[in-house]
Amino acid sequence: MKVPMIDLKAQHATIRGEVLAAVHEVFEDQYFILGPRVKLLEERIAELCGVHHGIGVSSGSDAILLALMAAGVGPGDEVVTTPYSFFSTVSSIVRLGAKPVLADIEPETFNLDPRKVAAVCTQNTRVIMPVHLFGHLVDGQEFQSVAKEKRAVLVEDAAQAIGAHGAGFRAGQIGSMACFSFYPTKNLGGTGDGGMVTTSDADLASSLRILRVHGGRDKYVHLRVGINGRLDELQAAVLLVKLPHLARWNEVRRLVAERYGEGLSGLPLILPVERPGFYHTYHQFVVQLEDRDRLKSHLQSHDIGCDIYYPIPLHLQECFRDLGYAPGDFPMAEQCARKSLALPIYAELTEDKQSEVIARIRDFFGRAHV
Ligand SMILES: *Cc1c(COP(=O)(O)O)cnc(C)c1O
Repeated sequence: MKVPMIDLKAQHATIRGEVLAAVHEVFEDQYFILGPRVKLLEERIAELCGVHHGIGVSSGSDAILLALMAAGVGPGDEVVTTPYSFFSTVSSIVRLGAKPVLADIEPETFNLDPRKVAAVCTQNTRVIMPVHLFGHLVDGQEFQSVAKEKRAVLVEDAAQAIGAHGAGFRAGQIGSMACFSFYPTKNLGGTGDGGMVTTSDADLASSLRILRVHGGRDKYVHLRVGINGRLDELQAAVLLVKLPHLARWNEVRRLVAERYGEGLSGLPLILPVERPGFYHTYHQFVVQLEDRDRLKSHLQSHDIGCDIYYPIPLHLQECFRDLGYAPGDFPMAEQCARKSLALPIYAELTEDKQSEVIARIRDFFGRAHV
């Protein structure tokens, strides 16, 4: 039985009519840029996150870039973040001429370790940017206190964590700003690129709104050099259709995670952890094992999708060589890069298909399901 890593067609089949009607309306209106749907989506996402403002932008990567610009990040500044994330977490810092300063992760949650953050902060640290990797929030209190102590702006890379919460915070409520992605495979995905920055700070919200339209408040009057970083109406229309389903989709992902937990118990692999009091949204379900590459080939030979997030930690990427990091600098991130394997997880994954994934993993270890 073929089990894809993700099945967007299956999701589309459940909301086809609504999506096509919403898209049709946009074509009828011919209002494509920063119209009523973007505004409504901004309000809804802000509400979901429990913050005052949402600013719809062109992608999760641009959300990070714009948040750093709004925080005033530029040459001479340092931004502390994780080596174990998607590329743009670090590339956005470099694009602004600032210096990424990395700290290792906690292997249990794959998230930036707040204790290690404090140790690498300097007087040039302008921003601390943790990532809620795979849908598990970082500890909000700990990051807020380290940011306060170091007088840094706290920015969340929440691209993988929409709808997640834990220890008294929702994704978006921990930092001065939070960055979300609506890339099609994210828990809330559009039909192309899209993203959002959220904040409760009115001044930051107004800066972000200016920066996403070339730094202009009024047409052709430019206060700063911004970018073309807008979310479009077509994306907003589709996201407005999908948003009411998000809570249920996240719930089903959690159920799938629970079934993996039961089905894979007793095997020599490390399962993902959900800390007490946290609501993990399982953007990915990532297991860790020494024999990762062989398990990956085994699953692929049985037509079961799986993937590695992330095979090369960011400090070892060729394009960041100038930062001066070397193998061995972040042992936890390097270990996770060697051992982690993501299994199929999405709301439309049927029990049959999931049982197939579990059975194939169990026979890899030579142990049948009891
Ligand atoms: C997806 C992702 C991004 C980038 O979002 P895009 O919309 O693809 O630009 C940034 N950070 C993390 C952690 C992500 O998963």
